[in-house]
Amino acid sequence: MEQAELAKINALTRREFAENEIYTFPVTLCHNDIDRDSERFSDEALTQMSELFIGKTIITDHNPTTAGQVARIYDTEVVKDSGQLTKDGRPFCYLKGYAYMVRTSENADFILEIDAGIKKEVSVSCSAEKRICSICGAEAGKCSHVKGETYDDTVCCHILDSITDAYELSFVAVPAQQGAGVTKNYHQKGDTHMEEFIPITTKADFDTAVQPLIDAAVSAKAKEFENWISPEAHQAELLAQYRTKAALLTGLPAELASRLTGDTEEAIQKDAELLAGLTKSSRQTPAFNPETPELSGVEKSFYAKNPNLAPNRKENA
Ligand SMILES: [Zn+2]
Repeated sequence: MEQAELAKINALTRREFAENEIYTFPVTLCHNDIDRDSERFSDEALTQMSELFIGKTIITDHNPTTAGQVARIYDTEVVKDSGQLTKDGRPFCYLKGYAYMVRTSENADFILEIDAGIKKEVSVSCSAEKRICSICGAEAGKCSHVKGETYDDTVCCHILDSITDAYELSFVAVPAQQGAGVTKNYHQKGDTHMEEFIPITTKADFDTAVQPLIDAAVSAKAKEFENWISPEAHQAELLAQYRTKAALLTGLPAELASRLTGDTEEAIQKDAELLAGLTKSSRQTPAFNPETPELSGVEKSFYAKNPNLAPNRKENA
């Protein structure tokens, strides 16, 4: 591997990699010949993509996760002058990509497969801003020509041009004998059909247009809060907590907590104190006398330190 090549790879990695840590392989990204959908890229589109694909990852099919990211394009090249012609007689050219992988024990088998030519095809995905009729040069769909149809011995195709973005690539498992071929999956801009846009000029039209959006927003919000309780229920729950807290603080039995009244924490606390004061006189306040004769010395000192755990509590005189 040349140093310049390794430098291009290391420009994309988080740390410098040595040559023996890296595995590189070429892939055909796309070409300018007419495909089975009667579409083709313009030569300029290939040049545009040559820059856009650098740094893009190649993932294994149907696994677009980080774990599935197996390779990355570090260089590209538009290959011309092969002497080969396209179906409509233009010089054939294609975009070649150079990909690298960091060698790991996990991808050793995968590298073997690539070496064996089993996974050599990749599917590309890009955004084409323009689609042009090959017969008249008009924007596709704006003329009467139909792609795939023949006009004076010329088959109409759509030319994809002005590539604005390229996305990650994926390996496609294709039997080697099926030959080279690029699966393209382009995202065309302008699919919003601007010609169908009708300006809104009356309030009634506006209401009609906007009502579904309002309904959707309202039901989305309702769904978001469907498990939430009402402010009233929340308040009731809060007061119940205040009553339990006040009962605990004043030493009232928990069963009496629900009897407490008041609309605020303070009011409930006051009520609890009042009730506690009323019940105190009749309540048996347990206390422990450490001088109880039947306890041993160890027990005595234990219960002196932990009076609440003492058995046989005596009435406080
Ligand atoms: Zn046309």
